[in-house]
Amino acid sequence: MKILITGGAGFIGSNLVAYFNRHTPDVEVRVLDDLSTGRLANLDGLSVQFTEGSILDQSLLSSVTRGVDAVVHLAAIGSVPRSVGAPRPSHDANATGTLNVLEAARENGIPQVIVASSSSVYGSNKALPKSEFDWTRPMSPYAVSKHATEGYTIAYGFSYGMKTLAFRFFNVFGPGQPADHDYAAVIPRFLDAALRGEPVTVHGDGLQSRDFTYVETVCATIFDAVQRGVSSLDPVNLAFGTNTTLMDLLQRMESALGCQIEVEHADPRVGDVRASQSDGLRVKELFPSIVPVDLDEGLSQTIKWFQSLKDA
Ligand code: NAD
Repeated sequence: MKILITGGAGFIGSNLVAYFNRHTPDVEVRVLDDLSTGRLANLDGLSVQFTEGSILDQSLLSSVTRGVDAVVHLAAIGSVPRSVGAPRPSHDANATGTLNVLEAARENGIPQVIVASSSSVYGSNKALPKSEFDWTRPMSPYAVSKHATEGYTIAYGFSYGMKTLAFRFFNVFGPGQPADHDYAAVIPRFLDAALRGEPVTVHGDGLQSRDFTYVETVCATIFDAVQRGVSSLDPVNLAFGTNTTLMDLLQRMESALGCQIEVEHADPRVGDVRASQSDGLRVKELFPSIVPVDLDEGLSQTIKWFQSLKDA
């Protein structure tokens, strides 16, 4: 079996390469990544055929897609604030880039395409917990571009009979998620500051909540989807229904680290949703064997990884 992971040098992608290597060493893993946020070092020691390049290069994309059994499309420009600052690059990479991936898969007759959408598509819909059948109202250019990602993917399922699957990732965290850039996600940002003994910045009152999902759970679900050829003509929330506020998250970090974390509050960020929680029903129905890693266990593994970086 051969698979292509776009964006495979990034946080989730490199964890996924490692997951495939560990569980099915005979599967040939190809990665296409332009290294805009991903790092080659994330693939150190892994068995992978790496191509540096962009999903916006249709002929390159077509050639690396040829002959694979599944494409896992993770390449994207992530982050809500980044897209608010510069909407067009997010649109190009996330919307046009996905169309390119689907076209490459269609041309080459690829049996399965799995893509990463985002919980941000629910936007201003305040209903909790969220079902895939709830209405969507994106609040940022990033969320719109992810809506296009999943919309195109599902439309290719309907229009061309392709086996497609659009996962809505919620807040994914774990080892390999960088803290050292302006758009870092909340868990690496908090842990990095806490381990340096610096105050953490909380935007707003800290009572905004998220359905944090450990990266190993995400990889196990994608792996299972590839192994069993799962497809769906509706999106699938890849989260299991936890509802954790940022203040609760900080308390969990304090007990895991055994120290107090100083908090500074700043203005809420434009485009951020207030609460995000999946009902977890469809993912459990489609992937009954997946047992999500518990938040505290995931945090403890992530802390170990951050500490190993500090000690290196
Ligand atoms: P990441 O930034 O670490 O990974 C994205 C990868 O895509 C990077 O390696 C980057 O270099 C690559 N890339 C960007 N533009 C590209 C292009 N034009 N051509 C080729 N490669 C390109 O982010 P991540 O957290 O690993 O996210 C992976 C996917 O999951 C993304 O599609 C993201 O939108 C989605 N997602 C992530 C989360 C999360 O919590 N991390 C939540 C919702 C959705």
